[in-house]
Amino acid sequence: MQKPREINISLVVPVCNEATNLPECHYQLEKVLKEIGKNYEIIFINDGSTDKSLEIIKTLSEKDSAVKYIDLSRNFGQQMAISAGLEYARGQRVAIMDADLQDPPEVLIEMYNKLDTGYDVVYGKRKRRKGESILKRLTAKMFYRLLARMTNVKIPVDTGDFRMMTRQVVNELNKMPERDRFIRGQVAWVGFRQTEIIYERAGRQKGHSGYSYKKMIRFALDGLTSFSDFPLRFATWLGFFFSIISFAMIIWALYQRLIADSYVQGWTSLIISVLFLGGIQLITIGIIGEYISRIGSNVRRRPKYVVKDKNVDKPQKDELTNEKK
Ligand code: UDP
Ligand code: MG
Repeated sequence: MQKPREINISLVVPVCNEATNLPECHYQLEKVLKEIGKNYEIIFINDGSTDKSLEIIKTLSEKDSAVKYIDLSRNFGQQMAISAGLEYARGQRVAIMDADLQDPPEVLIEMYNKLDTGYDVVYGKRKRRKGESILKRLTAKMFYRLLARMTNVKIPVDTGDFRMMTRQVVNELNKMPERDRFIRGQVAWVGFRQTEIIYERAGRQKGHSGYSYKKMIRFALDGLTSFSDFPLRFATWLGFFFSIISFAMIIWALYQRLIADSYVQGWTSLIISVLFLGGIQLITIGIIGEYISRIGSNVRRRPKYVVKDKNVDKPQKDELTNEKK
């Protein structure tokens, strides 16, 4: 077994159907990590790949003792795969990276040096995103700005999970029990000294994005519901707003009927308001439902993920203390 303080950098890499990228990914990461010149481990988390990813990772781990793997029993999603990796990492510093080489590995060197100057988190901020559809870029841009407005936690805009953190921050993250992970938000919540490095996000090297629109919407809702109660409050405001309008309309209707004694034909206004209110009610019930379903999954307290196979053990808690600065 490894001695605790031997590993300086852990790289956590979630993998879902990245067989075409993995060899190049390993090659480039090794190159960069050797350049930094510290002890390291690369933890690949196989998140239910249906291609040859797992075999490739296992072969890499046979050739390179720095390569660790965790094979999840099914697809748990990128955020959970990263969370698993963070729990197994033993490095003094831990970086998160995608396997598709969209995040340039050289930036890790910059991140490492930035941490040396006393920061606890260095996250990559995307200046440009190549090779992604306009729709994806636009929706991502809108989402991050919307989220920033709705939450009190300072979640930096236009950042992904590409980042390097100190042991102390990772220990705090590992304590978080929630099932709906939104790691970039959770890291922001933890606090400490955080800073950014601006980089250009490349296009995907090979293969396809594992994020369908359905998954992206789910991810966005996880972010919103975990870090903002604004949608719930918004539902309440809507309720008040329309109650006031309805009240005024009741008075007006009674006046028309009893005093002015003029019947309005009014089918159009009636049907519009019924449909409109019906829509609003369904939306607000839906908002509440999103929160309740997440409360449900947290109350059930199932394990966050299931490991099928691995070549690395979870570190003991007392092994993992912060490095001396
Ligand atoms: N990924 C994962 N599980 C998933 C989807 C993606 O582990 O369910 C991994 C994927 O292999 C990659 C990273 O998460 O290393 C980012 O995924 P992707 O490139 O598909 O996302 P995008 O860059 O399109 O946002
Ligand atoms: Mg990608």
